[in-house]
Amino acid sequence: MSEKDTPKLSPMMQQYMTIKEKHKGHILFFRLGDFYEMFFEDAKLASKELELTLTGRDCGMSERAPMCGVPHHSAEGYIARLIKKGYKVAVCEQMENASEVKGMVRRDVVRVITPGTLIESSILDDGANNFICSIYTTKSGFGLSFCDVSTGEIHITQLKDGSESALMNELGKYQPNEVIFNTAFLNCTSTIAFIKDKLYCTADQTDDETYRLPESTLIIQRQFDVLTLKELGLQDLELATCSLGGLIAYIGQTQRTGLERIKYISLYTDNQHMLLDITARRNLELTQTMRAGEKRGSLLWVLDKTKTSMGRRMMRAVIEKPLTSAAAINGRLNAVEELVNDSLWIDDITAELNGIYDMERLMTRIIYGSSSPREMIALGHTLAQLPKLKELTLVSKSAKLQEIYHNIDLLDDIHLIITTAIDPDPPITIKDGGAIKKGYNEELDELRYICDHTKEVMADIETSERERTGIKNLKIGYNKIFGYYLEITKSYIHQAPEEYIRKQTLANCERYITQELKDLETKIMNAQQQIFVIETNLFDGIRDIVSTALDRIQETSHNIAVLDVLVSFAKVALLNDYNRPDVDVSDDIIIQDGRHPVAECLMTDAPFVPNDVTLNNKANQIAIITGPNMAGKSTYMRQVALITLMAQIGSFVPAKSAKIGIVDAIFTRVGASDDLSTGQSTFMVEMTEVAQILKTATKKSLLILDEIGRGTSTFDGMSIARSVIEYIADHNKLGAKTLFATHYHELTELEDYFDCIRNYNIAVKKRGEDIIFLRRILPGGVDESYGIEVSKLAGIPQWIINRAYKVLAELEDKESGGEKKPKLTKVHHEEPEQIYFVDANTELVKRRVRDANIDEMRPVDALNLLYELKDLLK
Ligand code: ADP
Ligand code: MG
Repeated sequence: MSEKDTPKLSPMMQQYMTIKEKHKGHILFFRLGDFYEMFFEDAKLASKELELTLTGRDCGMSERAPMCGVPHHSAEGYIARLIKKGYKVAVCEQMENASEVKGMVRRDVVRVITPGTLIESSILDDGANNFICSIYTTKSGFGLSFCDVSTGEIHITQLKDGSESALMNELGKYQPNEVIFNTAFLNCTSTIAFIKDKLYCTADQTDDETYRLPESTLIIQRQFDVLTLKELGLQDLELATCSLGGLIAYIGQTQRTGLERIKYISLYTDNQHMLLDITARRNLELTQTMRAGEKRGSLLWVLDKTKTSMGRRMMRAVIEKPLTSAAAINGRLNAVEELVNDSLWIDDITAELNGIYDMERLMTRIIYGSSSPREMIALGHTLAQLPKLKELTLVSKSAKLQEIYHNIDLLDDIHLIITTAIDPDPPITIKDGGAIKKGYNEELDELRYICDHTKEVMADIETSERERTGIKNLKIGYNKIFGYYLEITKSYIHQAPEEYIRKQTLANCERYITQELKDLETKIMNAQQQIFVIETNLFDGIRDIVSTALDRIQETSHNIAVLDVLVSFAKVALLNDYNRPDVDVSDDIIIQDGRHPVAECLMTDAPFVPNDVTLNNKANQIAIITGPNMAGKSTYMRQVALITLMAQIGSFVPAKSAKIGIVDAIFTRVGASDDLSTGQSTFMVEMTEVAQILKTATKKSLLILDEIGRGTSTFDGMSIARSVIEYIADHNKLGAKTLFATHYHELTELEDYFDCIRNYNIAVKKRGEDIIFLRRILPGGVDESYGIEVSKLAGIPQWIINRAYKVLAELEDKESGGEKKPKLTKVHHEEPEQIYFVDANTELVKRRVRDANIDEMRPVDALNLLYELKDLLK
């Protein structure tokens, strides 16, 4: 807007401009009566994003200001849509009652809603945390703070000499919905691209002042009410301190009401968790599927049988952050094992967990004063469950469950306050009246009585005044001019007591008022208003008391979440027939009859065929897996990765037995043409990621390389793939445990050159032109890719299949100069040849017979088994 326009602005518009000036990066919701209005650029943008009609408003300038608006009662939905699209919204309210002030109503922004600072339960996803991340960047590394304002948790760390890739891995771990940073971060262009393209989240530079020392130290000391950073364990963590200071300041600017909810910080180091980069998370489909982005089909979908919102969020966090400490992992496993051994116990705990509401987020709303009476009752109901829940954990033997027992606070004082003070069936808002229970406050009860019984009260006064004065026909009436009055007919006026004040004379009667009547009248008139005030005050008081219990409620809800997760692990273990993995710090990964946890749940028609694996840092460091397309290579490798990951989050695993030496990282990379979901299936992306993996992985890492080198010409691709394997095989260079699937069967000759490489293939059986997938992993490589057979299976017309066989024969002929092509591959068959050709059913028959417990079989069971076996052999 130009200078000369400004003076002409209407006063309201001037007020708007002043406020907008302070909220340039926000869409300003400006309260005008029953609407929130938006103006100028905000209006244009919001009308487009929210499909609102764009109108105009006279603002004193020559042109009308573009304007659009939404009714205040439905604003939350509109705000939610803007937030989901990554915008930030400043909500400006009228700070005075318009009917009580002359001229302009004072207005102010009461809250800035940003994607990362939400507390609105209608916008938040109940099963996931909503993190905001603050990155403080210097030449010497990064300080990182993640906060979920809706639950009050903060996680901080710092990456000294941190590379951008380490930074991106941390971001991938928490998947924030908003990132803020100091100016120096602008140089980290790849992380900025990562935030935009992979995390799809809002990123903004924020006030550099608050990121600096001593400012950030002061902010932190004020927030956590400590004298020194040492009390928080932050003394030597300058980078972390700066990032936290900036974060607290930013959240303070958005919440406006204070930050009482944020009281705890948890410091972590990056070696506490298994390293999983964003590609591995996506590839292993930990919390959502790659293609559709849905929970169904992910590991979370299989493992999550939690009952509470806190549990659901915790489950997701647990899966996103596998542990690396054997003690911590076995602590969880001990608890799960104890639960698995008593399924009735699981049912009992589940029944209690069912009635527990989202305590963490209820507390947030209570503390920020936005809670409703119904939410208070929800908290009350939750607290009512605690005694039983606590009692159920009393009998536990494992340290983890005992710890939960000790840390669940019954909070009976808080429960008592809520049940005595709040009506069990309260209105939606305090304004509607009736939130405070009858009998809690005498004055309130009296006022309510008056409101509800005005007629009766007046009749009572009438009766008592008749008795007192002896005037039989004394009446109480009401008119608008002077309210309630006592009416006495002319013949009795001499009996009117002295304190009666005459107000009106009519033809045959006089009307009086008394002080008592006046007081009562005021009381009635004001009762509604007063009821509101008293109820609000009482409710605020109760809220304050409940707020003081934040620590205890937080601790309790955290422990309930942990319990919920452990119980969920136990349930899934029983349901899907999992076993306890043997987790230690060795270098072995030995899995017997392992299954893919998700694939086995999704498959309905055929049984999932279990497979073994042996990996270590010696003779079985690298497994090269060959087999035609669709044989099951990708499934098998992911299964090994997922079983390892499940063991490290403390879950039982889909395997007959599993010995898991803790890995520090899992990396996955799928050949470019397989990686459809990103839309950037370029060879460049593939190689960049392979480079990153080779740089970051250690001997303790697990690598899943699925047909890398596929995105370029055959010879290039094969050469790259081969060199990558050689690099990994060399212990001076990398030496990480690796599963490497490839369709270049030429690579199987590497087994001859390296002691640490083993060839495997996924067995198929060829029957004429048909191919049967056996899904069994066997030692040795294959030298055929069965591409034509697979094509036939896919429904390619027979003519093409016939032609393809001819072309192939000619090509092979040409390449070998008329002779049969010499084999590059030396194929090992450590198992007898015929296993190579047994089909899946024969395998199943063997398995059934082997597993049958004949001693405990009833005759009918034996007969059934026989029928089943016969069926399988048909
Ligand atoms: P590849 O990577 O060798 O092309 P995939 O791993 O993609 O093969 O597997 C192809 C299909 O085979 C999968 O969609 C799955 O349905 C099935 N499959 C894979 N492994 C098994 C198994 N062990 N048991 C049963 N079916 C399997
Ligand atoms: Mg594959």
